[in-house]
Amino acid sequence: KLNATILELRGNIRVFVRIRPLLAGEEEPARVEFPDESSLDGGKEMVMHAPTTLSATGKERNEKHNYGFDRVFGPTTANKKVFEGCQDLIQSVVDGYNVSILSYGQTGSGKTFGMSGPDGIIPSAIALLLSEMSRLKEKGWEYVVEASFVEVYNEAINDLLGDAKTWDEGDDLGASVRPAGKRRERHEIHHDALTGKTTVNNLASVTLWPPPDTSSQANAAVQTDYTSRAVTQLLDTAAKNRRVAATKSNERSSRSHSIFMLTLRGRCEATDENSEGVLNLVDLAGSERLKQSGAAGERAKETAAINKSLASLGDVIASLGSKKGDESHVPYRNSKLTYLLQSSLGGTAANGKSSRTLMLLHLSPLQAHWQESRSSLLFGSKVH
Ligand code: ADP
Ligand code: MG
Repeated sequence: KLNATILELRGNIRVFVRIRPLLAGEEEPARVEFPDESSLDGGKEMVMHAPTTLSATGKERNEKHNYGFDRVFGPTTANKKVFEGCQDLIQSVVDGYNVSILSYGQTGSGKTFGMSGPDGIIPSAIALLLSEMSRLKEKGWEYVVEASFVEVYNEAINDLLGDAKTWDEGDDLGASVRPAGKRRERHEIHHDALTGKTTVNNLASVTLWPPPDTSSQANAAVQTDYTSRAVTQLLDTAAKNRRVAATKSNERSSRSHSIFMLTLRGRCEATDENSEGVLNLVDLAGSERLKQSGAAGERAKETAAINKSLASLGDVIASLGSKKGDESHVPYRNSKLTYLLQSSLGGTAANGKSSRTLMLLHLSPLQAHWQESRSSLLFGSKVH
């Protein structure tokens, strides 16, 4: 198929960089500019050469760090434009490819805005897939679309659509939130090497397609409306469950990874063909350098879990990029996040099915965040 051919040419791992605009109240620099961390009067600036190169130049010592990525989006780029860059990857899910799109960056850099905000990747992906499915319907393909939404927190998987209120005895939640007698469900990950499928047990899922009312299938507008309402409801439930789990001193969403999982199963009666594709849309925990010292108790445990999972994500993607075709030594099992995403992280499964990854590096435009931006760029260069 044409989609697949274009994708092959572009490779299985892509990295985009996006710098968010200044927000109201933030100091306005003349341009995206970062001081040299080693000199007090600045002098290091980040120059963007859209669409492919982003470089940080040291005036003082005349040193230059060039980071090359697939795309670089400046502060005026709208969500719609970023989505256009993801479009061919997302389309390939109807053809049975597994795809992961991951938002990486420090807290406040725009990960959630780009993923779940207006025209963000989640709502745009669903709209695109619906239109692809209706195009393929004319060729005899019928699809079933199911969605799950999980969070990975402290190396455990929580179901954001199901049992969120029964999580984590370690939290400040206390027994008052946990229904009496109800025990926390365990969600174990299973990876089947033969089929290349990853599954999680006891996970709630919502059928986004087809609509339950078959009479409404005659009207395209009613169909789409059903799906968008189901998605809104699902995102609301997930957000509510995350709020319940948040503690006073701790905004949960910046300390855990959230993963929106779509499974598309297609069947064409006429040709007796089947396809199954998975799209994982991942809003990662904040990548800010988390200080181990001073952190105690629950906070230290969180910090260790985030450091471990982000490092192992970098290791897995870097290893996929360097060992094409050989999956046996990719360290997926080092963290729950990479194990969960195993079948959609740019590798080739035993059944020959390949998967694709897009890493979206989010940067803050503030000078004060230079160090964090630099470490995000280093992470990106490592996996690219
Ligand atoms: P993160 O999820 O990385 O912690 P958010 O997505 O919550 O960051 O973004 C932090 C703030 O910046 C939010 O108020 C968000 O609305 C705003 N923001 C982020 N990116 C953009 C953008 N591209 N355009 C406008 N506002 C943005
Ligand atoms: Mg966020």
